[in-house]
Amino acid sequence: MGFLKDKHDLRLINNIPATPGMCMTCGTEHEPELPHNRQSLFYQYKFYDKYGRWPTWNDAMEHCSDEIKALWKEVLELVMKEQLEKGAKDD
Ligand SMILES: [Zn+2]
Repeated sequence: MGFLKDKHDLRLINNIPATPGMCMTCGTEHEPELPHNRQSLFYQYKFYDKYGRWPTWNDAMEHCSDEIKALWKEVLELVMKEQLEKGAKDD
């Protein structure tokens, strides 16, 4: 680990556990077969420190079945479409 240190001279405090009962990877509550919460800062900083880049939704659902990935992509597309339409109305 160490992209935060190498690139930004920052260091995560080692071994900060997720809150008990929460996912150990993203620190939020979800079923193990579902994607990690890509928007969780806990997840984003741990991922960045390990890989030197911010996680994508593809990273967050890497461990999921193909069926879950397909469903999740549909949901994300709907949400993005809704946000685009909302943005267009607000302009
Ligand atoms: Zn998770």
